[in-house]
Amino acid sequence: MTLKEAIGREELLFSDGGMGTELQKLGLEINSCGDLWCLTHPDRVAQVHRMYADAGSSLVSTNTFSCNRFALEKHGIADKQAEMARAGARIAKEVMAGRGWVLGSVGPCGEMLEPVGTAKPEELRASLRIQIGALLEGGADAILLETMSALDEVALALEVAQEMNAPFVIVTGAFDPTKSGPRTMMGARPEQLAKVAAEGGANVVGANCGRLSQESEFLLLLERMHAASDLPLMLQPNAGQPDAQDDKIVYHCGPEALASLLGPLVKHVKILGGCCGSTPAHICAMKERFKPQA
Ligand SMILES: [Zn+2]
Repeated sequence: MTLKEAIGREELLFSDGGMGTELQKLGLEINSCGDLWCLTHPDRVAQVHRMYADAGSSLVSTNTFSCNRFALEKHGIADKQAEMARAGARIAKEVMAGRGWVLGSVGPCGEMLEPVGTAKPEELRASLRIQIGALLEGGADAILLETMSALDEVALALEVAQEMNAPFVIVTGAFDPTKSGPRTMMGARPEQLAKVAAEGGANVVGANCGRLSQESEFLLLLERMHAASDLPLMLQPNAGQPDAQDDKIVYHCGPEALASLLGPLVKHVKILGGCCGSTPAHICAMKERFKPQA
């Protein structure tokens, strides 16, 4: 079954939870390039995918969130971009063979586009062509534009995904609570993101990461997205907000607590998972609670 066919069915699909926070438990140092582990520690990346698949995730995201030229240049490894993205997709594909689908993760490039920032659209486009092209070449079933904040970057990434014939595209934004409802760091509202996603040919829109933590905030976000487009919705929140304890970053929302928070929202979404701080146990708890009745 293709991902498109699976989305067309009634059942809720489960994606995975945090990748970076899981790799940190396996030894990845904070502030080092986690995506490089696709080349240096493929077994540990595969181990995280496998733990999520075992917990019940039928969609897993590749370890390629920052696999863009702007981020890799800071680590002096921009020349490895295609190799890393291709490896990331292949590692996930091997784990998910016969078990589900691979979402090729594309995070924001970390720079603002002209005229607000200094990144040139053509540079971003060139970087996205390499990242998205290599993810598809490595076998990704979909491209996941995630933790997005700037609408111009989303629109450009959608153009590239269409140009590269991505078979399925998901867009999720990172939203924070504000007085006027959920907004991304760049000020985009849920309905604006949903409109840009639909117009750019995305198949699913939603939210991941971010600082929303109340049921009412998530509900408002989903309602606003739904009012602006007919696209199925995806939700991958963090396991609460992090705080630092003895050099460690701790997330306070445990598996049962996150599953309870999401309970009333399930009827509005098609894909449910987690982001930073969420673990295979969080996915397990969600799946137990929301599995379709046989
Ligand atoms: Zn996150």
